Amino acid sequence: METIIYKICGGERDREMLELSGKILRDGGLVAIPTETVYGLGASALSVSAAEKIYAAKGRPSDNPLIVHVAEPCDAELFAYTTPLYYRLAERFMPGPLTVIMPKRDVIPEAVTGGLDTVAIRCPFHSVARDIIRCAGVPVAAPSANRSGSPSPTSAAHVIADMLGRIDMIVDGGDSEIGVESTVISIADGIITILRPGAVTEEMLSEVCDRVVIDKAVTDPESVGAKPASPGMKYKHYAPAAEVILVEADSVDDFVRYVNSNASDGDGVFASMAEMNDFNVRVLITGEVGSAAELNHSLFSLLREADDLKLRRVYIRKPPAWGEHLALFNRLIRAAAGKIEKA
Ligand code: AMP
Ligand code: MG
Repeated sequence: METIIYKICGGERDREMLELSGKILRDGGLVAIPTETVYGLGASALSVSAAEKIYAAKGRPSDNPLIVHVAEPCDAELFAYTTPLYYRLAERFMPGPLTVIMPKRDVIPEAVTGGLDTVAIRCPFHSVARDIIRCAGVPVAAPSANRSGSPSPTSAAHVIADMLGRIDMIVDGGDSEIGVESTVISIADGIITILRPGAVTEEMLSEVCDRVVIDKAVTDPESVGAKPASPGMKYKHYAPAAEVILVEADSVDDFVRYVNSNASDGDGVFASMAEMNDFNVRVLITGEVGSAAELNHSLFSLLREADDLKLRRVYIRKPPAWGEHLALFNRLIRAAAGKIEKA
């Protein structure tokens, strides 16, 4: 299949091409969409055959449900049984990087929800994403636009590498600002359960509801491979071909010593510019040390870079498993298939 690639330029052609992307979606085709989290692989959420195309293009197991994207938070009403808590969350965090799981209405086929009777709803903040959903006139089911198992795409170049020739269109809206996928929560019984951490943190959610819990699968490396509440969490995920070695170290010095005495030629390490001369292996620059936002932004693209460089192993210092670092920790234990080394 020939894949149309269009880069948003702010010119007159944008409108015409956004209309085209909407028509492709409405007609059951696949369009890669820029969002503030990562690039999504969109298809009509009302169509069984369109959803099946997503699973085929990604090579994704069909029990892993898709997130349904809407142009306005209140559109959730059409596809899910909402609650007052949903609207409190919507007022505070939507449009934005938050996905809310609620009982689904019949219009959403089970092919979209992996056979579950619930549906995950998100209203993205990215203006191009919302324009495309509006043009489509249908809700848009969209997982990350990578081949299943590999790191999520945060630029159109990543999508092209994984999806060229497999999908109808790629809309290039620049690099994804946040860089990790949305926070996924369920809100059953008035309790917020975080199933996947993201830029909307436990602390932020606590401002809206005093009962917020984190699902065990989020932080427990042992649960990689087990059956969690969010089916996507059971797969080894976000992983490059290089082996990811997550190192728990009390200090930067301990980390440097561990890497220098264990790594060999053909290995690499994630480190900041300031630390780059300390290592005797290839350094992939991560931005400011300790800045969760900067690491989130560059994580997936650095994991892809590790593969472009054909690195055998990459060493990464384990971030804290709380607060704004939790999303990163959660992605890294999956990339490392649950293993943590102690420096
Ligand atoms: P991705 O499509 O790669 O962004 O992943 C979507 C995530 O949302 C996966 O971890 C799914 O398991 C999760 N998810 C989507 N829909 C549901 C649902 N109805 N119930 C539980 N988890 C869901
Ligand atoms: Mg994904």
